[in-house]
Amino acid sequence: MQNFVSRIISCVKTAVFPDKCLCCRSFFNFDGNRPLFNDRNKAAGRNFSECNYFDMLMAQVLCPECRRAFSPVESPFCTACGMIFKSREGEDHMCGTCLDAPMYFSAARAAGIYDQSLMTLVHCFKYQGKLQLVRPLSRLLFHSFLRYWETGYFDLIMPVPLHKKKLRLRGFNQAHLLLKDWPDAAAMLMGGMESIHIKADVLVRKKWTRPQTGLGRKGRISNIKNAFGLTDAFLVRGRRILLVDDVFTTGSTVNECARILMHGGAESVDVLTLARAI
Ligand SMILES: [Zn+2]
Ligand SMILES: [Zn+2]
Repeated sequence: MQNFVSRIISCVKTAVFPDKCLCCRSFFNFDGNRPLFNDRNKAAGRNFSECNYFDMLMAQVLCPECRRAFSPVESPFCTACGMIFKSREGEDHMCGTCLDAPMYFSAARAAGIYDQSLMTLVHCFKYQGKLQLVRPLSRLLFHSFLRYWETGYFDLIMPVPLHKKKLRLRGFNQAHLLLKDWPDAAAMLMGGMESIHIKADVLVRKKWTRPQTGLGRKGRISNIKNAFGLTDAFLVRGRRILLVDDVFTTGSTVNECARILMHGGAESVDVLTLARAI
């Protein structure tokens, strides 16, 4: 009886308040029987493909068509900067740019390609402050983390910092929020992440810079030069660090962060972003 009543309530609710897709703005009906990302038994597993996991995570915010418009990062890509090769054949290997001028970080990886639905979601989250996306995006990033690294590998995980003026204007650091759900996800999956520490106050952005958007590769590098600093170099010395950001475009921002961390004595720096521009 209770089940029947809750189904009636659910039908009425759907008819009166259908879900609106964040990407295409069309109305769709969320299927309440779908497994959700908080479904302990199913949704948090390592074994889901990126596409299936994205579909599950975004079931409440995207229509079925937009949930399919997601491109995960797939091999072959550069083992260092993570650039996705145009040719879809062959093994992962180092790209020419990384062979000529290695970056300060060891490896950069991403959950998906920065296009279609993922691009819209990042915009909604970052520029329109749709904070209901924090949890699914954070979970998507964590899933990607598990795909590439062992959980105990890093000593420190840190978001790319924002300048405090920018933080005041935006109200949040998107990279930091992308780590918000990691402790919960880890607890659900493996009973905690004792060996991993999220630290958001060691690497700081000390210089106000113009936005990187619209700048070419060289412009981005000079714009971001010396923008970051460390509050306490002792904390990074000898540490393996994972840097987290929302989008990897040319890599100049994360590379500058990695340079500061490596100069501070870090053992290694790796990079994980939600999206990778191609
Ligand atoms: Zn849609
Ligand atoms: Zn490369």
